[in-house]
Amino acid sequence: MKFHLRASFRLSADASKAEAAISVFFSNAKNIVQKGAPEGHGAKIIEWKLTGNRIDLIIDSDRYVRAHDALLRLRRPLAELLGNNYKIGIRGLDINEFQIEVESHRDIGHKIPYVRNIRYEDGFLKLELDVGENGSLGQSEIEKRIPDRIVNLLEEKLQTYGGKSEHWELLWESSPKESNYNKDPTNEMIKRNWIKHGASRGQWIYGPQATQLFRTFEKIVLEEIIKPLSYLEMIFPKLDTWDVWKKSGHAKGVYPEIYFVCPPKTRDPAFWEEVMDYYKVTHEVPQELIKEKIDVPIGGMCYAQCPTFWGFIQGATLPNDDLPIKVFDRSGTSHRYESGGIHGIERVDEFHRIEIVWLGTREQTLEEAEKLKERYKYIFETILKLHWRIAWVTPWFMAQEGETGLAKMEGAGTVDYEALLPYNGNWIEFQNLSVNGEKYPKGFSVKTQLGEPLWSGCSGVGLERWASAFLAQNGLDPENWPEAFRKYFGNMPKGIRTL
Ligand code: ATP
Ligand code: ZN
Ligand code: MG
Repeated sequence: MKFHLRASFRLSADASKAEAAISVFFSNAKNIVQKGAPEGHGAKIIEWKLTGNRIDLIIDSDRYVRAHDALLRLRRPLAELLGNNYKIGIRGLDINEFQIEVESHRDIGHKIPYVRNIRYEDGFLKLELDVGENGSLGQSEIEKRIPDRIVNLLEEKLQTYGGKSEHWELLWESSPKESNYNKDPTNEMIKRNWIKHGASRGQWIYGPQATQLFRTFEKIVLEEIIKPLSYLEMIFPKLDTWDVWKKSGHAKGVYPEIYFVCPPKTRDPAFWEEVMDYYKVTHEVPQELIKEKIDVPIGGMCYAQCPTFWGFIQGATLPNDDLPIKVFDRSGTSHRYESGGIHGIERVDEFHRIEIVWLGTREQTLEEAEKLKERYKYIFETILKLHWRIAWVTPWFMAQEGETGLAKMEGAGTVDYEALLPYNGNWIEFQNLSVNGEKYPKGFSVKTQLGEPLWSGCSGVGLERWASAFLAQNGLDPENWPEAFRKYFGNMPKGIRTL
């Protein structure tokens, strides 16, 4: 990795009288720009030149003390020298040229902010950064370490090339259950008029029978988990703004999978009259015209359910006596623009989920996770009687940021719950449980009173997925359902008939 930087210090006055002192300063500057780097590494000042009230510099470096860091390191001692002895101040920095070279085995076909041009040559990606104009790379971008973010981004892209797959490791598998049902439950539900396709992609209208099934799952979660473990119900917003996703990390990668939300540019009916008139005359909705009249997206529809909860305690300090805090939400739908594999109710664009969230010290958070796992096991073994398994996987917060591998925080991570679908032999993830370490408390600046690290966890119970797993293994006839489940379910509603 190489950096090549041409920059200037802008001075408050002509510094000709200080030229000799500046010369001494730069001949000793090696101590500053190579400090901390391995012997023979760091930055080098290739050239310096004083012209009136400007000092022009050329700095080259490797990855250890990067050229822009070297520039920032020089500022304070130079300002002290000029200020103390000559009453001259440093007004600011100008960046005149900035090139970065990163080793790579391939070219990159992307546009990257602040990068004017990328060439791939002799095993290097050669980046020419955009400098010298408003909105390009200047002092404040250097101070924010934008060049380092660009390098990190490139390294991330180059590493994930070739598709490192997500981690998956079996932790436990239940014994197979007796049932020999092997039909596709979505088809069976359609035949019996339990569900119908909604008008939108990956959307279903659930009739009374399917709805009672979903409500029964909720009842089981309430009776077997929420009540015994004392979770409190909350209502989390279902429109996630960019601000929330910046803090939760989703802003890094969620774009291909979200439904974007755009408000109108104005709610003035006159502004929209053209659209209304067009519809009244043609009976078509003028989508292109609407596109002109809506504003940029302010965010998207609920994707992961727990991020909006954090706004409730954002920036706050939590009393130790109140930890762990344990809440859940079941107040609305989640939406994902799923890819090709949409099948039946197993993978849908609009789904229903109970989200359980807990936070406390590391110990409390891990302990709570174990309690939840026990309760889940009880439900799947004795009430739903599923053939299921659990696996240790890439943490969901990393997966949703487009990363692979395992979490670095000891004890943090995700377990996926999977169930066998006998009709096609596949296993589906029907829920998960994650200990997210300090990620969320840090992202949303939440602290504990005594200053110990705050941890959190969350678990998403997908009702469509529970239904798929349960019906695929047990069929649609209540007489074949496990006794304990039938008790929770009660009588099958008659449903809506059509002729
Ligand atoms: P998959 O790998 O099956 O797409 P995921 O890893 O995207 O699942 P998470 O992001 O971990 O799922 O979401 C948590 C839970 O939300 C899942 O365990 C599942 O119950 C539910 N869920 C996620 N996506 C869908 C979907 N498209 N349709 C129905 N339920 C879903
Ligand atoms: Zn969550
Ligand atoms: Mg998914």
